[in-house]
Amino acid sequence: MTKVMKFGGTSVAHASNINKAIDIVWEAKKKGDDIVVVVSALGGITDDLIKLADLASKGDSKYEIIFKAICGRHDQAIKELIDEKNPRPTPPNCGASQEKALKEISKKYKELGELAKKIFSAKELSLSNLDAVMSFGEQLSSYLIGEGIKSRGISCEFVDSRDIIKTDDNFGSANVDLEKSYKLTSDCFKGKTLSIMGGFIGSTSDGKTTTLSRGGSDYTASLVGAALDASVIEIWTDVDGIMTEDPKKIKDALLIPEITYEKAEEMAYNGAKVIHPKTIRPAVLKNIPIYVKNTFNPTGSGTKISNGKR
Ligand code: ASP
Ligand code: MG
Repeated sequence: MTKVMKFGGTSVAHASNINKAIDIVWEAKKKGDDIVVVVSALGGITDDLIKLADLASKGDSKYEIIFKAICGRHDQAIKELIDEKNPRPTPPNCGASQEKALKEISKKYKELGELAKKIFSAKELSLSNLDAVMSFGEQLSSYLIGEGIKSRGISCEFVDSRDIIKTDDNFGSANVDLEKSYKLTSDCFKGKTLSIMGGFIGSTSDGKTTTLSRGGSDYTASLVGAALDASVIEIWTDVDGIMTEDPKKIKDALLIPEITYEKAEEMAYNGAKVIHPKTIRPAVLKNIPIYVKNTFNPTGSGTKISNGKR
């Protein structure tokens, strides 16, 4: 059985949250399922990348400050996650090298830096370049969280989402070619027991990077779940599940323990923030239940989204 586990921006905002997410993955892995982990960018990074691209395109060299801060945040997370001197106790071991990870991730920084410089010189921001810039959030997070998993002595394979999620060139909100993407995805994960990939990003048939619209990592998780006929898709977030009200605004919002696909989709399209509206369709067609759960309260039951039949 395959389980898809997606962690949102807050769940992976920094090393201590990432370690909580890895604990959750490890608990699931011990039960013997094959697992695909889909991650968002570290919380706030996508907004920072948009700011960076915007400043660069206006010829404002302050973009460099944001660039440095982005690199610094990821380096810091690596240093805390892969601490060879103090390996994490569960499971023990340290299967990753901090030095190697820092060196590897710096290649990505270089790519981003060069792209930003290009935008700065051109004083222009095409939608295609904006997508390329935004994609670094998930490119960086998936790499570093994968190394964090390995540092626990758990083997984990990295998958570049752009190799399997194929889209048209509607940059900013690209439409996924389901047939192509499902075939590439199911071929790619054959024989893999634990893998990690970034959500939100894909690529056109001629290799240009695209994004699936803000919050689109949920959609990626659902696409991968459908492609692999997963037994479940879990969306790990920072609230207990789908609530009657926005819990960040209304204190006595109540958790909805079970909801149908139709109702969840309607709520998402009406602006309930917890799940991207496009997430529901791929799951419905394969009748895969989606659970929305809280990374900071992992034993909570969350919300189950399904066809409502038992
Ligand atoms: N990182 C992207 C965003 O902030 C996608 C996601 O988190 O789902 O919109
Ligand atoms: Mg989200």
